[in-house]
Amino acid sequence: MVFSLKFNIQCSRQCKDNSRKSSIGYIFGFTVINVIVFGPCLLEVVKSKFVYNCRCVLRGCIPKKLMVYASKYSHEFDESNGFGWKYDTEPRHDWSTLMVNKNAELQRLTGIYKNILKNAGVTLIEGRGKILDPHTVDVDEKVAIVGGGYIALEFAGILNGLKSEVHVFIRQKKVLQGFVEEIRDFVGEQMSLQGIEFHTEESPQAIFKSADGSLSLKTNKGTFESFSHVMFATGRRPNTKNLGLETVGVKMNKNGAIEVDEYLRTTVPSIWAVGDVTDRINLTPVALIEGGAGALAKTLFQNEPTKPDFRAVPSAVFSQPPIGQVGLTEEQAIKEYGDIDVYTANFRPLKATLSGLPDRVFMKLIVCAKTSKVLGLHMCGADSAELVQGFAVAVKAGLTKADFDATVGIHPTSAEEFVTMRTPTRKIQGSPESEGKLGL
Ligand SMILES: Cc1cc2nc3c(=O)[nH]c(=O)nc-3n(C[C@H](O)[C@H](O)[C@H](O)COP(=O)(O)OP(=O)(O)OC[C@H]3O[C@@H](n4cnc5c(N)ncnc54)[C@H](O)[C@@H]3O)c2cc1C
Repeated sequence: MVFSLKFNIQCSRQCKDNSRKSSIGYIFGFTVINVIVFGPCLLEVVKSKFVYNCRCVLRGCIPKKLMVYASKYSHEFDESNGFGWKYDTEPRHDWSTLMVNKNAELQRLTGIYKNILKNAGVTLIEGRGKILDPHTVDVDEKVAIVGGGYIALEFAGILNGLKSEVHVFIRQKKVLQGFVEEIRDFVGEQMSLQGIEFHTEESPQAIFKSADGSLSLKTNKGTFESFSHVMFATGRRPNTKNLGLETVGVKMNKNGAIEVDEYLRTTVPSIWAVGDVTDRINLTPVALIEGGAGALAKTLFQNEPTKPDFRAVPSAVFSQPPIGQVGLTEEQAIKEYGDIDVYTANFRPLKATLSGLPDRVFMKLIVCAKTSKVLGLHMCGADSAELVQGFAVAVKAGLTKADFDATVGIHPTSAEEFVTMRTPTRKIQGSPESEGKLGL
């Protein structure tokens, strides 16, 4: 649904005077106090087309994760056979039940956010649009996904789990550019074993529709036929056109990302920007630490100029298997610190011994050779997102390998491997470019 928001919140310390309404604040977006604020005194969205459909809740993280949960059952049914479960008929998935339940949950969440705003004294004025579009995907057919980034991989896993035939087309040799090299290989292999077909070094050139309605994808290497859907997940750009930013002199880069200083202030002092629109770390929790609950709120409304802290931001990819990571990659660590020790493990988890499935787990620790500080922690395998969130506290706190070694493992888990890696897989001697620049 699309709403206008009228903020009646006044910044009590700085301005209680309604006569200063001319320094009105505009806030675009919703996940957090979002994207752009003009002036620190009174926040009021005067235009009536405030869009309420924040990406995280309605089009990104939440619906995506619900669909990941749905699709994981097919793997779990397969796993259960080795543990003695038998099914008289093949479990069948009902897409419409999933959509109805997912949409109900999104409505519920939207209601909660509306209430939060209402209780904070915000007037919601309904503008235009819809909360949800039908978003129907015929899951029984053959789908092409173009792109090798995290969103492409997540949807490949979802659709594969829901029994579509999935083909992923990527321009490069490997998926997930910028991620840890071993994980790029590992996740590609694991997903291939689950039946997803990767077409590497292939660039799409055209899509043709046949008389029977099916789609063909022409790439630099050939033409692939009979797709019911072709999905592009090739990246996003900040949607900053026609906001009037150029007119007032807000500087943007060539992709349309708004340039901000360390305090999130744009080149026009009364205008601030947070979240994806600045195109730095495009994640919901990062938008939150920048915006409403974080740095910007303190700077503008508590008289405490605050920079968001981007050190050791953990993140996950909800591919199947999922990936969790925090801190530096090996390449970044060498650049920053020179000499590093790398610990890796690649093993078959306990569950796979009976399930008989080819599931494995990969883990990696990157340690500064000089200080023994853990600089990076990376994992691909079941539960890695949940597990890395916990370890992120240790990495953020600057704990050392000795602290990890002194921590007692929980047995039997995959996680215990992170506190029992005794011998480095390799020791690397490099020359740092600028020690500690990334702040770890
Ligand atoms: C498919 C997908 C999956 C994702 N999964 C994850 C995940 O698992 N974990 C994670 O952390 N992040 C994930 N993300 C990223 C996450 O959704 C974003 O980082 C987060 O939503 C950024 O918040 P934001 O407030 O900056 O922008 P958004 O959530 O995009 O909110 C911007 C809002 O501004 C509105 N708006 C735009 N222009 C105007 C205008 N002119 N006037 C008024 N309003 C306007 C938009 O409609 C929108 O409501 C995912 C993204 C996608 C696309």
